[in-house]
Amino acid sequence: MKVFKFGGASINSIDRIKNVGSIIQSKEGEKLLIVISAMGKTTNALETVVNAFFDGRKEDALKLFEQVKDSHLNTLKYLTTLQWQAAENQLKDFFTEIEWLLHDKPVRNYDYYYDQVVCCGELFSSSILTSYLKEIKLNAAWIDVRDIVRTDNNFRDADVDWSFTDKSIQDNILPLFKNHDVVITQGYIGATDENESTTLGREGSDYSAAIFANLLNAESVTIWKDVEAVMNADPRQFKDAVNMYELGYSEVIEMAYYGAQVIHPKTIKPLQNKNIPLLVKSFIDPTLPGTVISSKNEKNLPPVIVVKEKQVLMQFKSKDFSFVEDKPVEDLHHLFAAIKVKPNLSQNTAISLLCCFDDHAEKIDALAAAASQIFDVEIEKNLSLLTIRHYNAESLQKLTANKVIVLEQKTPVTVQMLMR
Ligand code: ASP
Ligand code: MG
Repeated sequence: MKVFKFGGASINSIDRIKNVGSIIQSKEGEKLLIVISAMGKTTNALETVVNAFFDGRKEDALKLFEQVKDSHLNTLKYLTTLQWQAAENQLKDFFTEIEWLLHDKPVRNYDYYYDQVVCCGELFSSSILTSYLKEIKLNAAWIDVRDIVRTDNNFRDADVDWSFTDKSIQDNILPLFKNHDVVITQGYIGATDENESTTLGREGSDYSAAIFANLLNAESVTIWKDVEAVMNADPRQFKDAVNMYELGYSEVIEMAYYGAQVIHPKTIKPLQNKNIPLLVKSFIDPTLPGTVISSKNEKNLPPVIVVKEKQVLMQFKSKDFSFVEDKPVEDLHHLFAAIKVKPNLSQNTAISLLCCFDDHAEKIDALAAAASQIFDVEIEKNLSLLTIRHYNAESLQKLTANKVIVLEQKTPVTVQMLMR
């Protein structure tokens, strides 16, 4: 069995959904578990629905949701005839579920509502794709992943209950393959033991694919993307970015950790643990080889570059010249956890601690206010954090030209520089 994951861009139009259909058709004879994201930018659109609802702007929320509904109904209409009525009924059931909620007043926290609303993007897209696959006579089954992937109730960043999920996969997914070649489900979402919807963090459907692959002992996972292969830098930032065709798990987990937008950072562990290769392939030209990520270590990698913009440097200085020692730093780490911020880079001096964060303005303000009880706090904004793995003199020189480096850390493999 193989696991395929199709992201939002691969199903963002009628033609692209048809294209996904032909990729799946071309795999005749294989058993496929397919994990789907929401179409295009649907998740962002649903965020605006939740925001309106949570601000008490009910009419706006309903109006915005109407637009999401219309575009999905419209897509469905062009993809199905025989399947159309059943498929439309299923979509309408999902719509009702959300509209019921939108008619209420918010009484719980934002993250809870976020997950109850945003999860429908994946339900819609997977339902439409399944109907289309049936329309073109593929033997496909749809399954609501909220009956399979059990999580805790840490909404928007839920943790998976692996043993429950394992059992439900064995009991509910495996039997489906007796009568079906293709089983389609949703990425990114799950549910608690009280049947509340949860999400696994933005871009989390790669991770969902890895969970299924691990628990189904899949032969491989393929993530279908709009790029030919994994590249050594973001081609929008670097015109000379190149493809990398073979990568080890550790290289990819490091790249994701430093902020490369290749694959969701949680994806690699479940695959590495069972030695399941991860293929990144182009849905635009499936004949291209793509990238193979496995336990085999790559040779001769080019410098791998990640740039994160909008960074803030915070300096926490001890107020009375005492050393920055265990207790105050421990307090500071508790603050980070409470406010949910994670330093991208940090460094100690005798009486201060320097940390660089993504600039989520609200969180940074909250952190500065709380930390100033213990430390003198200084802040500098608008910095960029450059990470180069497998750096060499040439890449270092080129990427730091005309920049002021405010913080730097180097290991033999990785250099990170915070620049002004
Ligand atoms: N649809 C979700 C998002 O946009 C999950 C995903 O695409 O993986 O974040
Ligand atoms: Mg996506």
